[in-house]
Amino acid sequence: MKAIMVTEPGKIGIIEKDMPSIQSANEVLIKIKAVGICGSDMHIYHGTNPMAVYPRVIGHEFVGEVVEIGSNVSSVKVGDPVSVEPIIYCGECYACRSGRQNVCEKLEVMGVHRDGGFQEYVVVPEKNAHKFDAHISWEEAVMIEPFTIAAQSTWRGDVRKDDYVFIMGAGPIGLCVLQYAKYKGAICIISDLDVDRLEIAKELGADYILNAGRVDVVKEVMEITKGMGANVTLDAVCITKTFEQAVEVTSVAGRIVVLGFGVEPSKIPQLPITKKELTIAGSRLQANKFPEVVELFNKKALNPKALISHRFKIDEIEKAIKLIETQEEKTCKVVLIF
Ligand code: MN
Repeated sequence: MKAIMVTEPGKIGIIEKDMPSIQSANEVLIKIKAVGICGSDMHIYHGTNPMAVYPRVIGHEFVGEVVEIGSNVSSVKVGDPVSVEPIIYCGECYACRSGRQNVCEKLEVMGVHRDGGFQEYVVVPEKNAHKFDAHISWEEAVMIEPFTIAAQSTWRGDVRKDDYVFIMGAGPIGLCVLQYAKYKGAICIISDLDVDRLEIAKELGADYILNAGRVDVVKEVMEITKGMGANVTLDAVCITKTFEQAVEVTSVAGRIVVLGFGVEPSKIPQLPITKKELTIAGSRLQANKFPEVVELFNKKALNPKALISHRFKIDEIEKAIKLIETQEEKTCKVVLIF
């Protein structure tokens, strides 16, 4: 079967590998139908993901059809369309015992620490395969995983109805967060440098769009909220400056959610954190969010289609990568169809 492998940083291509087979009674074999290319796949390709191990079949946003099940499998059957939850965890460490298996001490992410979804077939434990309704197309279903990131981060930020939520960045994750926060009833302000992305945000229900290249976003958010500040700020830009701005622009009793993997320190004073009693929360991957997101997809409560900008065939992987590298701001979610 075919697989897309990053053999070492900067080198990607299609390889032939043996088909996987079910090894234990609780596993399922899935024929992959579509996968999404994520910023973190690009980081692995560029050698800028410190957690990646090479060579690696990348991809953690993937969906397919169950083609074989182990003898103990009961939650899915052959023919079911499923989205794969790409995390493997120990179930015993403090995080796992706290229901936070996304930060398990021994966490392995498919497509990062072990082979992922950019291949024709994959075997996963039954509990990682989440069945969705047949009316959802394969490419739309690819967005289930990115939306679980939004479910997680809006949960970490405790987004409530009528909260002012400031989302920094209108890329795929920012736009998923926007839709999720709107679904939770928040008033959403979103910023980006790219006009086209802001237009998409507007169409997806953003109440206010801010061009961060043209206006002072802190000043604007303070004006929109009549001096209160955003109750929740979600930083999907993830640079030192946006983290600093988040602390400045978030209201009393507010929450800040950071999603970045940056190692460069921001300069953040203690005073605003204590004075406003801010909660600063990291948000990584997701824990237990697949069922909730799948339900919203089944109900058509979200708009995944609006986020898909380009489609390629698996053989066109190099073309897809080149497009993202050269015109990133013109792409949103790039999907590979098998
Ligand atoms: Mn992703």
